[in-house]
Amino acid sequence: MARIVMKFGGTSVADPDRIRKVAALVQDEAAEGNEVAVVVSAMSGETNRLVAYVDELSADSDIGGAIDDEYDTIVASGEQVTSGLLAIALRRRGVKARSWQGWQIPLQTDGAHSSARIKGIETLAFADSISKGTVGVVAGFQGISPDGRVSTLGRGGSDTSAVALAVALNADRCDIYTDVDGVYTTDPRIVPEARRLNRIAFEEMLELASQGAKVLQTRSVELAMNNNLPIRVLTSFADEGQENPGTLVCAEDETMEERVVSGVAYSRDEAQISLLGLKDKPGVVAQVCGVMSEADVIVDMIVQGISQTENSANLVFTVGERDVKKALAALDTAKQDIGFEDVVVNEKVTKVSVVGIGMRSHTGVAHTMFSALAERGINIEVIATSEIKISVLIDAEYTELAVRALHGAFELEASRG
Ligand code: ADP
Ligand code: ASP
Ligand code: MG
Repeated sequence: MARIVMKFGGTSVADPDRIRKVAALVQDEAAEGNEVAVVVSAMSGETNRLVAYVDELSADSDIGGAIDDEYDTIVASGEQVTSGLLAIALRRRGVKARSWQGWQIPLQTDGAHSSARIKGIETLAFADSISKGTVGVVAGFQGISPDGRVSTLGRGGSDTSAVALAVALNADRCDIYTDVDGVYTTDPRIVPEARRLNRIAFEEMLELASQGAKVLQTRSVELAMNNNLPIRVLTSFADEGQENPGTLVCAEDETMEERVVSGVAYSRDEAQISLLGLKDKPGVVAQVCGVMSEADVIVDMIVQGISQTENSANLVFTVGERDVKKALAALDTAKQDIGFEDVVVNEKVTKVSVVGIGMRSHTGVAHTMFSALAERGINIEVIATSEIKISVLIDAEYTELAVRALHGAFELEASRG
């Protein structure tokens, strides 16, 4: 007997028929005598639909986006529906089951609405219930804030609910079921030659996720890595009896280091902000970053260049696309203080990254990457690196071309899993 957490994403619970199929997978695990906790997302498309309602009613605001703390109450409702539906589907198959909302467990978070962090999970009642043979179907993505409000964990947050629950329950397994049969060398929707990896190191998965590979939410990987909890990513769409080994996200071993690059990720949710005619004096970059941080805007890539006018510089940085209005409002207010002539925004940019722990011990990765892009006439706007990653900002129009070129340049279609 084992304690298992199974998570099903939006496409896996997209309609009643899919929910019936998920119920069959859960029943198989329960029938083995396992204690089973299931975490579900909202039906695919549902969270987008709910966010659009919030956006529509918030549109009058200068700051834009969903800034109201009622956002969480609204968007968390999608998961409430699927948790109830899966519990019904399980009961219809003769499996004891009940749904749990975030506040009922309770899964406690901080008060950062729309991107709350998990502070703790009170597992006493929940563990008692599953140990008595009742499958616990948990609404993912949601929790309860310190002031008793519904909170949500950021887009893709059901992955984090599942990993956090697995850690809190000291589970033997955490299986993330999705619409692809594992983690690939890049998004298989863009590069059909992409290959499924049998294993990937936590650190690599963390970089790939944070650079845009949305197969796992970044925080879920962080949490798994910090607790050394391996995660298995597999498909809920396999036919009965079909092999479904998936990808194990786990601590690194020597074989993983042999791969110089393990994957390519891309993110279209970027915006490039250029401050032109900035005073070229010490402290000015810190000042701009301070203004952004006070406005709660995360600055990612930064590059400073000298401009043609004497004593002036240009500063180029990237922020998330959803934060552009907030960033511009803050810059406008601080324009006199900072002292710049003009601000130019370009939302048609994509960040493309190559990731691999093998980069620590191999040279020439940057050269291969930049040459592959140059050969296709793709201009690089900004570059950022870490020990196991190189990212470039490019014109969004070339996203697919760049991802395919890099996938080919690092021979990932031929890579060993
Ligand atoms: P779920 O609804 O199950 O949470 P997501 O849509 O959040 O699923 O994540 C799965 C999707 O992630 C896949 O359909 C795929 O298009 C995308 N994806 C991006 N990069 C990768 C990658 N490297 N490996 C696998 N899938 C990836
Ligand atoms: N339903 C939420 C979203 O679409 C959470 C999730 O799917 O993990 O972002
Ligand atoms: Mg997801």
